[in-house]
Amino acid sequence: MQDLLLGLPWRGGLPDEGTLIALAQDDEDVRGVLLDLDGVVWMGDRPVPGASEAIDWLVREGIGHLFLTNTTSRPRQAVVAKLARLGIAVAADQVLTPADAAVTWLRRERITRPAVFVPDATAAEFDGLDPLPDGLEHGAGAVVIGDLGEGWSYSALNRALRLLMSDAAIPLVALGMTRYWRAEDGLRLDAGAFVRALEYAAGRTAVVVGKPDPTFYGAAVEALHLPAEDVVMIGDDIHTDVEGAQLAGLAGVLVRTGKFRASDLTDGVSPKAVLDSVADLPRRWAEL
Ligand SMILES: [Mg+2]
Repeated sequence: MQDLLLGLPWRGGLPDEGTLIALAQDDEDVRGVLLDLDGVVWMGDRPVPGASEAIDWLVREGIGHLFLTNTTSRPRQAVVAKLARLGIAVAADQVLTPADAAVTWLRRERITRPAVFVPDATAAEFDGLDPLPDGLEHGAGAVVIGDLGEGWSYSALNRALRLLMSDAAIPLVALGMTRYWRAEDGLRLDAGAFVRALEYAAGRTAVVVGKPDPTFYGAAVEALHLPAEDVVMIGDDIHTDVEGAQLAGLAGVLVRTGKFRASDLTDGVSPKAVLDSVADLPRRWAEL
């Protein structure tokens, strides 16, 4: 303990235990990692080459890590199952999704009967909140927008609008504000684009419960038991992942896989590092 205190500007008395733990962490440079999934760990149904090995390396090195995804096209258990198929064993509580965060938020606000615009498998995560049956255009406690994908239609969007317009007090809840993602056939609109359309039409601002909301990053950092500045977010979205993490006090690292485009690097956001892929994480760790 004596060595730890040498050269530190204490003004009387010994530091408390919490301070000592923080100092020890600084000394040993203990840090944690948050990993985006789509475009970083997998692309469609294929793993990003070397991703599994990079995650094995994090495990071996004892570096705390969690998976922070805005995916709402599948529930958390399906995310865990997909990772297992790719050879990556993770516990359900290592995966943080906006659907979980939304359920927590709705419970805290004591809101039931949400109208949920996500695929059926993910909608089941809201079952405990007595969700509004499909087709009804009144009586919602909230309008929750996720990645409905091919399920979006003019009538689905109009239903969301009508629900919002039926009562000015109904919150619009966004499961992340991702603008687009890269599917195997090219770029596709993500939840954020539909949320913006509804905000514009209904004249209200959404409550965002996924990336880049700082509260979502805060919950992840808290789960790692690390200060935000000791945590690195690795993602393929310059705004949602890199800028969002930076605004929440974390470091943001961009990968050149997934939706990455060269123009991302001249978009006003400066990542701490740019990796060719998450596979480079072990080799580039020292400079992060
Ligand atoms: Mg991504």
